Amino acid sequence: MYLCIEIANVMMKGEATVVKHTGSHYLLSRLPEWDLFPAVLRGKIRLKGSSATNPVAVGDVVAYEAEVSGNEGMPMSGMVTLENPAVITSVTPRKNYIIRKSTNLSRQSHIIAANLDRAFIIATIDYPEIKLPFLDRILVTCEVYNIPVTIVLNKVDLYRDSHAEMLQAFHEIYEGAGYPVMEVSALTGEGVDALREACKGNVSLFSGVSGVGKSSLIKALDPSLDPRVGEISDVHLQGKHTTTFYEMYALSSGGFIVDTPGLRGFGLVDLKKEEIALYFPEMLKASEGCRFAPCTHTHEPGCAVKEAVENGDISYDRYSSYLGMLEEEGKYR
Ligand code: GDP
Ligand code: ZN
Repeated sequence: MYLCIEIANVMMKGEATVVKHTGSHYLLSRLPEWDLFPAVLRGKIRLKGSSATNPVAVGDVVAYEAEVSGNEGMPMSGMVTLENPAVITSVTPRKNYIIRKSTNLSRQSHIIAANLDRAFIIATIDYPEIKLPFLDRILVTCEVYNIPVTIVLNKVDLYRDSHAEMLQAFHEIYEGAGYPVMEVSALTGEGVDALREACKGNVSLFSGVSGVGKSSLIKALDPSLDPRVGEISDVHLQGKHTTTFYEMYALSSGGFIVDTPGLRGFGLVDLKKEEIALYFPEMLKASEGCRFAPCTHTHEPGCAVKEAVENGDISYDRYSSYLGMLEEEGKYR
């Protein structure tokens, strides 16, 4: 009697997350597993109403099909190869995403990442000196995109003592506005455990102006990661022919991060004057008490936001960032 083992080709279907996009293919992983396998797009997947140059972005959850000659118990990476990649058949609607435009004037946008659980905005009080209006703009952008933010103050070893008052004021302003503020030092390792803990179970965006120590911090979180320090500069991002590929990394302690080079060019939202205050959480809350609606919180009588600024419940710095954005409306895109 013969035992005939026939290895049939099986069509496997499933859902996975895009963790990388290279020129020719995507890498998928069935998060929270880290089982990378290649995939290609079938035909043209176009998202309705999207001007994005990339219809599928890092963080997208996609449906895939793969024809494999193995069994379901095998890891995908063993069955799906570059010669026989999976095929992406659809993209699951995003809970959020963050974009950048190729240039200031360009109408084309590039989706940096989708489905982010949180953005960690890395900053320093000093070395380099913090620019609050710039930070506030980033925070507004994250509010617009519906991405919860944690502010991570790095290099506290350098300024905790020399800038103690500023540090305390910073906590008051931003925690008062509803943003968690963590203090860390990639150099001494202080606070790094807490940050690692905060990353667990999440897909997190890491962003910050260059020089704040973002790469050092990522390395401190997981020494096996080696973000390409300084390799992708903002200047290059503005170049027409340069394609930037964002990538998701798995932290060995759990959680996934998307590292973004620089912050310039992210913060590109079109907001109408009367919308801007909706994205300053503390102003939105106070504005319930304004006599007029809508209220720009500038000249209107009975404005509860101005009153809150005057009695110190809303920080003057935040309010002045808001005024700056009102003035620049249309220009800061
Ligand atoms: P990135 O541009 O944000 O990725 O910054 P890097 O990680 O390249 O760091 C910029 C500089 O700051 C480097 O010289 C780092 O050694 C230094 N640096 C990073 N983190 C810390 C820190 O926590 N404390 C101190 N004193 N220096 C740091
Ligand atoms: Zn008002």
